[in-house]
Amino acid sequence: MARKMQIDGELENSNKEESQYDFDLFVIGAGSGGVRAARFSAQYGAKVGICELPFHPISSEVLGGVGGTCVIRGCVPKKILVYGASFGPELEDARNFGWELNNKIDFNWKKLLHKKTEEIIRLNGIYKRLLSNAGVKLYEGEGKVVGPNEVELTQLDGTKICYSAKHVLIATGSRSERPDIPGQELAITSDEALSLDELPKRAVVLGGGYIAVEFASIWRGMGATVDLCFRKELPLTYFDNEMRAAVARNLEGRGINLHPSTNLIELVKTEEGIRVLTDNDQEIVADIVLFATGRIPTTKRLNLQAVGVELDEIGAIKVDEYSRTNIPSIWAIGDVTNRMNLTPVALMEGTCFAKTVFGGQLSKPDYSNVPTAVFCVPPLSVVGLTEEEAIEQAKGDVLIFTSTFNPMRNTISGRQEKTIMKLVVDAETDKVIGASMCGPDAAEIMQGIAIALKCGATKAMFDSTVGIHPSAAEEFVTMRTLTRRVSKPKTKLQE
Ligand code: NDP
Repeated sequence: MARKMQIDGELENSNKEESQYDFDLFVIGAGSGGVRAARFSAQYGAKVGICELPFHPISSEVLGGVGGTCVIRGCVPKKILVYGASFGPELEDARNFGWELNNKIDFNWKKLLHKKTEEIIRLNGIYKRLLSNAGVKLYEGEGKVVGPNEVELTQLDGTKICYSAKHVLIATGSRSERPDIPGQELAITSDEALSLDELPKRAVVLGGGYIAVEFASIWRGMGATVDLCFRKELPLTYFDNEMRAAVARNLEGRGINLHPSTNLIELVKTEEGIRVLTDNDQEIVADIVLFATGRIPTTKRLNLQAVGVELDEIGAIKVDEYSRTNIPSIWAIGDVTNRMNLTPVALMEGTCFAKTVFGGQLSKPDYSNVPTAVFCVPPLSVVGLTEEEAIEQAKGDVLIFTSTFNPMRNTISGRQEKTIMKLVVDAETDKVIGASMCGPDAAEIMQGIAIALKCGATKAMFDSTVGIHPSAAEEFVTMRTLTRRVSKPKTKLQE
């Protein structure tokens, strides 16, 4: 409460002052979070400037572009490639639906790449227009913080210019991190993977997170031999264990070679390709090795330590629940703060920032029940708690309802791939506290389930909802039989 009043007071006073600054707000980084915060702040009447490096549609060396990682080299181009990769297996599935595919079907990687680049250029233009329509002044160049209210912009011709702002917002996102493995310079990251000149015939992917399983699915769907190496027993640490096992089964079912509990120890360039050595004494030769081992906040070139902004041990900017740093005029949102690194979360943080600072409404991002999807093929989507988290956090027992079934189209296509759904319920309150699905359209279905969880829906409410028949989604309202009831293991004292 004391903090709330303090923030109220400070913002009220600061808004009453006659502005001695060039801008009310200067944003460094025009990705999802930065653009949202800039536009919404301008709509509240603030004078806003934003800076971003220009975007190069092909080069992965220039990491700029209005729209940021999501639009330029993340979610959007990745999803286009996932769509591209899904058609091959779907055409195979179409045979039993009567489609005769007698002639050889060719896949033209360069055409897809071209269409993807066109779409990114279009979206980049839309984002720029969103800014100008909102009255935000866009500067092309690299920004760094040189004082609590000062940003220095290095323009494209190398000249430097300083702007003052009552508030500075850092929204510079994150970038791929490369593990220190001998020969690591032979590997690529997701930045390059989205714009490869040639489609690889043989790919090794290191990592078991979102990017690793998504690219493994993309390249496999396009016909490549894919070896996925990850250091845990299952991919997707932090997801529900049963779902992780389902994803692993599906990846394997689609022909991806899984190498669990595996690290890479060396990459060597040979005439046949890149020779990859693992700590399980395996040797794999590949055209491409993708490192998908996480991302780190982009703070190195921002001069933050010099102005006293506190960073954590991996270089993420430390912020309070309103996204404010220890320097009262400097704020940060999105991946650069390493809270929950998802585009829609950066959007939420940007919205809350604008409301709090310029909209006269204190507003904190709410990280509960944030749904997410991993766009492997078929996708995994989740919201709320995993079974493991629920058992850990619930006061009493946890009820688990699962449904594993053959999707209707597979009964005709003959594809051997089950869909799995799960609801996690608090036995005491009957509230659904977690939901997951691994199967076609999981992300599309989970968005609606997330609304139900956000509203605090009980299992009884799920059960009383009429299904849409025939659909996979209806399983979420017809899981009547309890799969298991799990009691929290007793502590020594309770025994
Ligand atoms: P993740 O953090 O999801 O996964 C990193 C993976 O790399 C983990 O499997 C991790 O293993 C492994 N790893 C880390 N260091 C090493 C190492 N030195 N050697 C071997 N393996 C290692 O990162 P991603 O790169 O996949 O994604 C980055 C971010 O982008 C994520 O935060 C995600 O939120 C976001 N993203 C979201 C997407 C979506 O919403 N669909 C899509 C793509 C990215 P372990 O689990 O053992 O730690």
